[in-house]
Amino acid sequence: MPLTQQQLLGIATEYGTPVYIYDAGHITAQYQRLRNAFAKTDTRFFYACKALTNIHILRHIKNIGCDVDCSSINEVKLALHAGFEPGTILYTSNGIHFSEIEEAQRLGVRINIDSLSNLEKFGKKYGHSYPVGIRLRPNIMGGGNLKVSTGHDKSKFGIPVDQLDKILALVSAHDLFIQNLHIHTGSDIKDVDIFVKGIDVLFDIIPHFTELESVDLGGGFKVPYKEGDPETDIERLAQKVAEAFANHPNPNGKHLQVWFEPGKFLVSGAGYLVTEVNVLKETAATTFAGVNSGFNHLIRPMFYDAYHRIENLSNPTGAKKTYSVVGNICETDTFAWDRELNEIREGDLLVFYNAGAYGFEMSSNFNSRFKPAEVLVENGEARLIRRRDVFEDLLKNQAL
Ligand SMILES: *Cc1c(COP(=O)(O)O)cnc(C)c1O
Repeated sequence: MPLTQQQLLGIATEYGTPVYIYDAGHITAQYQRLRNAFAKTDTRFFYACKALTNIHILRHIKNIGCDVDCSSINEVKLALHAGFEPGTILYTSNGIHFSEIEEAQRLGVRINIDSLSNLEKFGKKYGHSYPVGIRLRPNIMGGGNLKVSTGHDKSKFGIPVDQLDKILALVSAHDLFIQNLHIHTGSDIKDVDIFVKGIDVLFDIIPHFTELESVDLGGGFKVPYKEGDPETDIERLAQKVAEAFANHPNPNGKHLQVWFEPGKFLVSGAGYLVTEVNVLKETAATTFAGVNSGFNHLIRPMFYDAYHRIENLSNPTGAKKTYSVVGNICETDTFAWDRELNEIREGDLLVFYNAGAYGFEMSSNFNSRFKPAEVLVENGEARLIRRRDVFEDLLKNQAL
């Protein structure tokens, strides 16, 4: 059950706006959906925490039995801080200095390496002593748009599969223990066949890695942003994955566990951004509703042309009118153009749905505005999990 408008209104009134509100129950339900769908396959899920890293979210993820995938050494440290065991943390690196890989090794976490040069350095330093994964670039176009597509043949991510010979030469020269093969083709992948294509690419490569224990298919499950919006058919995907692995027994005899790294799927629908309308401005082109937020708090509409459903919490039964909802940043800052909403009055609270993933996480202090507060609702109780910035936060790292 999503949070009701009444609950959101109550919380936003108590904690002030703009505020991010997260529903822990939704995260649990999404995780259960995955577990149920993949019940027939030996599967492990690592939450791609770059979507939302508040440590209270991480703790909830850990409590429901999900593991965690990190995109930086600081995310690794946040996960450790939140209580994850090193063996349940995966660091899928991209373009990082080798020293970060050394640090991850010292911390004892799982590592996916994404360049030949780091793989060589790793081999020279650790040889067979520390198991490691390889991030491959499968040369497949996947994902909602080019900005979130990561597996195609011009993408910076992973080692291109056409360089398999070079990978194998390094593995052999340094007796590397390759435990995992990883691909992640992008975000907003609604087409299950993209995953199947990725699996097909992997099946050609698996026989070369005799010590392999897992195959990591990344994240990128699409969630619906509005009524009728397509989403990744998780059940069909699970069926396809089960069939594919049944048809391709590992020639090396070892059982392969299947890993996924869902980010958006777990937290997108769990998050709500509630804002207050500062000004109404009628113009010949449209009626603007200007809110006390902007792309400094939720960049997805401006950055990805993403659609976020909006509702007027303060006037849920008001007559429908057309508005353009805009932010207060001194740059074009449009959340929605010509959107039908219940009549808006200045002071009304508007909620943006699907704000859990890449919302707060991509926020900034642009225009020297404060970042919003974050509130978590768990077992019916709301509590503050990050206070709103205060003026001192803007100055705290600047020389006196
Ligand atoms: C971002 C990312 C994910 C998660 O993508 P979603 O679209 O949020 O599911 C998974 N794996 C890696 C390596 C990523 O960089």
